[in-house]
Amino acid sequence: MGRPITLDELAELRAGVSGVVLARGDSGLAEEAACFNTAIVHDPDVVVGARTADDMLAAVTFASQHRLPVFVQATGHGAFAPITDGVLITTRRMSGVSVDGARRIATIGAGARWGAVVERAARQGLTPITGSSTNVGAVGYTLGGGLGPLARTYGFTADWVRGFSVVTADGRLVRATADEHPDLFWALRGGKGGLGIVVDMDLELIPLTHVYGGGLFFDTDHIEDALRAWVEWVHEVPDTVTSSVALLRFPPIDEVPENLRGRFALHLRFAFVGDSAEGERILQPMRAAAPAFLDLIGDMPTTEIGSIHDDPDQAGPAWDRGMQLADIDDDFVTALLSRAGAGKDVPFIAIEIRHIGAGATRSAALDSAVGGGAAPFTLVMIGVPLPELFDTVLPQSSDYIVSGILPWIAEETNINFLGHVASTQQFASAWPADAFSRLNETRSAWDPDRIFVYGPS
Ligand SMILES: Cc1cc2nc3c(=O)[nH]c(=O)nc-3n(C[C@H](O)[C@H](O)[C@H](O)COP(=O)(O)OP(=O)(O)OC[C@H]3O[C@@H](n4cnc5c(N)ncnc54)[C@H](O)[C@@H]3O)c2cc1C
Repeated sequence: MGRPITLDELAELRAGVSGVVLARGDSGLAEEAACFNTAIVHDPDVVVGARTADDMLAAVTFASQHRLPVFVQATGHGAFAPITDGVLITTRRMSGVSVDGARRIATIGAGARWGAVVERAARQGLTPITGSSTNVGAVGYTLGGGLGPLARTYGFTADWVRGFSVVTADGRLVRATADEHPDLFWALRGGKGGLGIVVDMDLELIPLTHVYGGGLFFDTDHIEDALRAWVEWVHEVPDTVTSSVALLRFPPIDEVPENLRGRFALHLRFAFVGDSAEGERILQPMRAAAPAFLDLIGDMPTTEIGSIHDDPDQAGPAWDRGMQLADIDDDFVTALLSRAGAGKDVPFIAIEIRHIGAGATRSAALDSAVGGGAAPFTLVMIGVPLPELFDTVLPQSSDYIVSGILPWIAEETNINFLGHVASTQQFASAWPADAFSRLNETRSAWDPDRIFVYGPS
């Protein structure tokens, strides 16, 4: 419990910060602290909307003096519990991105979203190893590892980080690279929170301007054939193919495009790094598996990569639960569809399975804290956006589906795919046991008083 904050102390903090400082009760605090998941409402003692590293330093020093916990938020895509005390540093004003084309390095501000990085890099014929949604924050995503639409070819995004500038718990600005503070560099690539506040990161880009990619949509009657074909096909595709499938239940509302409204469909997402003719050849068995009512796959510039998954970019109430899967087979499809297939009463708008492995597995062998590299599939269930179902119906329904597919669920997972965290044990499962204990040691070394709160308490 921190000591109370006086008006004079707040005035002093305001004088030392070039961004905004809002205290509980100030109008504008709720908006400044708002998350992408609107079911989570933060109400900290103080919010510092940082513009500079100095603002972050001032916020951390202020929090230490008052023995208040410190939180950080860029977009709120990763918010999983309401913040009820302490100092929240928001980074959205620090959204600068610069690209050094000769070195193929992007320097990405703490508040930048992937869309800005993709767009700046493309101007120089380059691309970052981005996530499925260009709306997600690049730094928060990468701190968790980062598995996107090119994951099998290029691995975790964290593998491509060459350095971080970090504000530490003792109020210093340090560099973390392979040579400077390598322990912190190791932990920040996959360990995610509780280590420091990242001011910016240097990310290596790759020379890539186009992929052959997009999505196929299969209607209800063809879901089973397409899903069984996908599970077989993924075992044969090369590392240059990354794909996923999602069982999508589109609500019958006007906001949904007419050709999808009210439908239960399977969405295959596909990205191939190589020329279109070869991509078309590799994809052919999936096009032949069942008729698709929408075929949106073709040659696309990397600036369109966000359209492959076409994740929603509107904030709203959200509940999701994620895990990873060991190898899946035809019996897995039978088990999944028997609980979540056509005709079942399922309160999930999406059940997504991503095929990783290949590059992501190689990543796991690199010297970083990323979790989940060894399990070849991720599975995430995204609930209907009705907060009144979040406490009981969605957890119970997800338990029901999970109990049907238990034999395929891997022990390990990745923090970016964990979703709703129900227990400390579940949180710990986001890293291999040795990485989790090394992370705890690194957190203790860099933040002995644990002011950077992270994970369930
Ligand atoms: C629609 C959607 C699509 C997604 N797609 C993918 C995907 O393809 N692959 C994937 O791996 N993940 C994916 N995710 C998960 C996403 O990567 C995480 O939720 C990530 O944490 C979001 O980062 P953010 O900065 O946008 O969110 P925020 O909620 O702002 O931040 C989340 C956490 O990141 C940490 N953090 C953020 N900024 C800093 C900083 N400057 N310094 C220190 N810590 C910081 C903090 O611990 C913070 O609590 C997706 C999530 C959503 C909602």
